[in-house]
Formats: sequence, structure tokens, C-alpha cells
Amino acid sequence: MEPVISFDLDHTLMINPFRRWVFPEIEAWLSPQLPASSTAMEYILREHRNRLAHQDKVAAYDWDGILETVCRQVQSTPPFTVKDLVHKHAVIGKVWLYPDTLPSLRCLKKEKIPLIAATNGWECYQRPVTDCLGITSFFSEYHTPVNCRAVKPEASFFDFRGHRSLIHVGDRLNQDILGANRAGVTSVWIYRELDERWHGMNAAERKLHPDFHRVLTERLHQEGHTGSLSSEYVPDYVIVSLKELLPVWKRERSRFSESAG
Ligand SMILES: [Mg+2]
Repeated sequence: MEPVISFDLDHTLMINPFRRWVFPEIEAWLSPQLPASSTAMEYILREHRNRLAHQDKVAAYDWDGILETVCRQVQSTPPFTVKDLVHKHAVIGKVWLYPDTLPSLRCLKKEKIPLIAATNGWECYQRPVTDCLGITSFFSEYHTPVNCRAVKPEASFFDFRGHRSLIHVGDRLNQDILGANRAGVTSVWIYRELDERWHGMNAAERKLHPDFHRVLTERLHQEGHTGSLSSEYVPDYVIVSLKELLPVWKRERSRFSESAG
């Protein structure tokens, strides 16, 4: 069976409006009601982390639920929902596709490869953005914590693959790569900032370079990981552009058909 490809969305295919527009608007409204030494984002991220650590992880990405919890703590009622703000700011100029996104999705679609969205963002916060950017129609499936009842990096997030061979592409080592590796899914790390001297290598060669573990360790530290680097964080492939995905898919197709035969 030919492999299918799933994509993380934020910082893999696109830039959503949360960091630049949605969170600042919440901050501007909520911060004046908080003690002078604290910011709204501190409250929001604390509640997000608390949910990730102690509750149903799916709820950690329920930004409206998080806002309501925070507002209860300060006995306030928000004049908007986060969904409203996403709709308001999901407009061209505030949300972006990477330059390689559309050409690559078109190329993969032309090869009739099924493409799947696989994101920790709830669909109500992601779909207005993918609709605005014109990429929703590329996806035959749209998987989020709401229907998966799990989040990346939990292996069960990837249960949507069923019996299919799956290649997952994402930018976060501690979510996309860790989750895909745990689930036995082929993991592809997109790292557009990778130093140019690595660009001449192919997607399978880069991870064999002697400096690769240093690159991974630095990136994991940026993601907030404080432990040591284990093999669970090492991707099967490293790409600097989505244009490298078709050769990866062809290579995996041969590998899967050999192992099936
Ligand atoms: Mg991402």
C-alpha cells in the first residue's frame, strides 16, 4: 500500500494569527485587570501547562476553556471568544503560508498522494486559517485532539492511520517527531533554519552527519526540553523545504513495498 502523508500545520505549512494578533488582543484586554507584576499570557500559559500535566490533555488546546478559567480567577467575563478573534484575524496579511507550501502540496496532490492535516490545534481554531490560506481542500482528512482524543506526542494521536503506512511531517521535535517515532510512523523533521552547508545533503544523509546530534540538542533546548537527547527525538528524515518531500515519499514507498513483499 502506498504511504500517505500527514502534516503538522503551524510552522510547518503556515503561520497562524495566535502569537501576533489573538494573544496580544487578549493581553490588551485582560492585563489591566491583573496584578501589576503579571501578564495575561502568564496566566494563560500556566493554565495550558497545568492542563497538559494534570488533566485531559485534549483540554490543553481548548483556548476558550482556558480563557474562561483564567477570567473566573479574576472574576471577569471576556467580551469575545478566542474563536471570534481567530475569525477576525484569519485574513491575508495576518496569516501566512511558507513559499514552498503551495507548490509542494500541488506537486504531491498531482502524484495522487493522500494528504492529511494532523495538528494539536482544535479544528475550530485551525480551519478558519487553512480556509483563508486556501489549503483546506488539499486535505482528505483533518485530525485534531478533538477527534483523536489524544495530542502529539502521544502515540495514540496517530491511530488515525489505521493500517496505512504513514509519513508525518512537522517542525516540533518534542511533539511531531517524538509522537511519530513512538507510534512507529516515519518521521520527517522540517527545519528551514538548518545551516546552508547541510543543504547539499539529502533528507536521509543529514541525520548521519557527526554534528547532527548537536543541532538536535540545541533545538530541543529551544523547545524547552531539559533532559538528554534520546533516540525517540531523532527523525527518520530532515528536510529544509517541503519540496524535498516527494523524494522522501518515493523512498518510503520502495521501503514499504520491499518489507511487504
Ligand atoms: Mg508546528
